Amino acid sequence: MYRSMAAICDAPNTPLRIAEILVAPPQAGEVLVELAATGLCHTDLTALDGLNPSVVYPLIAGHEGAGRVVEIGPDVTGLEVGDHVIPLYGPECGICSMCRSARTNLCWSIKKTRDAGVMPNGTARFSDGSGPIHHFMGTSTFSRLTVVPEIALAKIRKDAPLQEVCLFGCGVTTGVGAALVNVQHGDRVVVFGLGGIGVNAIQGARIAGARQIIGVDISSNKTALSNSLGMTDFINATDTDDVVTAIRDLTDGGADVAIECTGVLRVMRQSIDAARPAWGKAVLLGVEAPGSELSFPPVDVRYGKIIEGSYFGGIKGRSGLGRLIDLYMTGEISLSGQITHKLTLEEINTGFDLMKAGESVRSVVHFE
Ligand code: NAD
Ligand code: ZN
Repeated sequence: MYRSMAAICDAPNTPLRIAEILVAPPQAGEVLVELAATGLCHTDLTALDGLNPSVVYPLIAGHEGAGRVVEIGPDVTGLEVGDHVIPLYGPECGICSMCRSARTNLCWSIKKTRDAGVMPNGTARFSDGSGPIHHFMGTSTFSRLTVVPEIALAKIRKDAPLQEVCLFGCGVTTGVGAALVNVQHGDRVVVFGLGGIGVNAIQGARIAGARQIIGVDISSNKTALSNSLGMTDFINATDTDDVVTAIRDLTDGGADVAIECTGVLRVMRQSIDAARPAWGKAVLLGVEAPGSELSFPPVDVRYGKIIEGSYFGGIKGRSGLGRLIDLYMTGEISLSGQITHKLTLEEINTGFDLMKAGESVRSVVHFE
């Protein structure tokens, strides 16, 4: 048994409890990872707030980490002790029908156990005196030591700084990837919500060659960072009664691509309405409250509008993340200014307070 400090979520709407836990060694196909750092993402908050249907309490949240391999279990063939890795909440087994298709980056080979908060063999590796503690998204990066299936680990180059590239575990990849897939050279783009996902959608749109990138948020806190990443216009949604008309006015009738990064249903609908008739595309990235439904006029779609979503930026994690990290190492993707707060594990609750107050883009917990 290993010992590790971790932030435990005992039940929804209670502060995370920082305590030492026991971590069992990796079993067949599993890997023990020591994290260097982990970002805090809004999706973690859905688990802490009790809004995530795919979790079992008590749990250890966190899915935006980077670290080193400490021990490999039996049958692990692609990783060695000392390798640098990013845990993937979307695995890539490489053999299922989804992995063999270029049409998706989803892999549901271990989804059932992942959503039940256990490893693929049905048991958890975390425990304390009172019983098992569940995994979250198969990653649980709010523990210095975590166990992850080999198929859910992307091996990355060793010269990439772990305390920064942890952001590729979610925010950067989700935002940049979604923009790179959907934005064409010369497009007019609007991005709703300038958090960790939205600012990266902005820089992805810039890299893709967008001619105009409008950011929309209810707070002006992140305009300087968003401008530095490529935003050309900003709309504060609290300053206008009609965000959609404001966007149509700025874009000569609507955006070619409208990327939604809030998880707010009303904003999802705004992104559909702000997309240009005939070919405009709404790309929904936000995670809605469980059971939510969204309505839209079918005629918009009949006339050509496209409504899409994207998960982890459409990137197949094990085979595709390295290329994105190369873009960071060559300076094309910027992380500068995105890590607004560096925290110790003991300060993690403060990080979620900052997120709720809209004051952070990314808070990152350093384990070393
Ligand atoms: P965040 O909390 O850091 O940022 C959300 C931003 O939206 C904030 O700046 C907030 O001020 C803004 N906002 C809130 N209401 C708004 C409104 N009415 N109009 C405009 N802006 C508004 O969150 P994040 O970590 O960037 O995540 C954004 C969303 O993406 C969340 O729903 C998250 O769960 C989801 N997500 C999706 C994926 C995926 O793979 N699709 C991955 C990670 C996160
Ligand atoms: Zn996330």
